[in-house]
Amino acid sequence: MALIVQKFGGSSVKDAERVMNVARRIVDTYKQGNSVVVIVSAQGDTTDDLIEKAKEINPNASKREMDMLLSTGEQISISLLAMAIQSLGYNAVSLTGWQAGMTTDSNYSKARIKKINTERLQKELEANNIVIVAGFQGINKYDDITTLGRGGSDTSAVAIAAALHADLCEIYTDVDGVYTADPRIVKSAKKLDSISFDEMLELASLGAGVLHNRSVELAKKYNVNLMVRSSLNNNPGTVVKEENKMERMIVKGVARDNDVARISICNIEDKPGMAFKVFSLLASKKINVDIILQSIGREGKKDISFTVNEDNLEKAVEILEENKERLSFEELKTSNEVSKISIVGSGMVNNPGVACTMFEALYDANINIHMISTSEIKVSVLINKKNADKAMNVIHEKFNLAE
Ligand code: ASP
Ligand code: MG
Repeated sequence: MALIVQKFGGSSVKDAERVMNVARRIVDTYKQGNSVVVIVSAQGDTTDDLIEKAKEINPNASKREMDMLLSTGEQISISLLAMAIQSLGYNAVSLTGWQAGMTTDSNYSKARIKKINTERLQKELEANNIVIVAGFQGINKYDDITTLGRGGSDTSAVAIAAALHADLCEIYTDVDGVYTADPRIVKSAKKLDSISFDEMLELASLGAGVLHNRSVELAKKYNVNLMVRSSLNNNPGTVVKEENKMERMIVKGVARDNDVARISICNIEDKPGMAFKVFSLLASKKINVDIILQSIGREGKKDISFTVNEDNLEKAVEILEENKERLSFEELKTSNEVSKISIVGSGMVNNPGVACTMFEALYDANINIHMISTSEIKVSVLINKKNADKAMNVIHEKFNLAE
């Protein structure tokens, strides 16, 4: 008998029919003699709809109240799913995050899990219940409800799997697994049988959108047996695991991030400490900076360009303009008509020329590169947003990822 944690995303439970479908799947797993803990997200677009509702009343609602509101979405799904399982003649019990012992810090809307007290979960499992837990939420030391950030149910599932030492954590979604590229953009994209934690982490943070990146961090840290698969069929899915050196592929996948913006600080003084001043200012406002490029100096001046998340563009420009005199630059140029395209693969480490092949693909398609950044297992370029889909396709083809 095994202990299996299953997580179902919002699209997998979006209506009554899908809820019943998920209930049957869970019951099948249970009937095979397994203990089952299920984590669910809010149905369909519920979370987005709740955010809209809040905006109608107060566009600057406090994060504490937003968490109180958004956590209700998951509470709807857990109760409906428990009812669905009961209608099939099996015992199920639904638990909110706090009932399941999920304690977090007090960073509302982006809380981090601190500890899971598994007592209640264990008790329900011992009573042979199928346990249904609300994803995305926890409770802090003030007994207030917190949420883990958009997409956080994946992280709830992996954390619970780690805390219970589950044999397997299955993340169910509406696609068959992790692909070499988003199949809606690259028609020939292929499902990967397996991917390493590190590669998945890169893809998750590059906007591939399959798994919440903290869930991958946790799975790596606690070596959780993780699998991404479809709730709509029985295809085998993608295993996310510790790297097997033999299976290293040079490039595993291509990802696109459209939520980026570029800022160029033009004609800033070319003397020590300027980069420090710029980036400490941004850090003080909790603005994350990604790709950074600095021109060589001429006549005592230089340019510093960097990218930020699109949502932070306004805030970043504001703080820089406020400090224009102190930083003594001439002007700011910004653009949000840019996309970041990245290739990821742990085999890059010992294969020179990978970046070059990517640049060649873009050159052949006459796509101009604005910025470049690399790490051991990824290469990212910043290009015009209008070229993003084409870029994904030509790069995917150049590396023969469809084969
Ligand atoms: N319902 C939350 C969201 O839409 C959490 C999740 O789906 O994982 O972001
Ligand atoms: Mg998700």
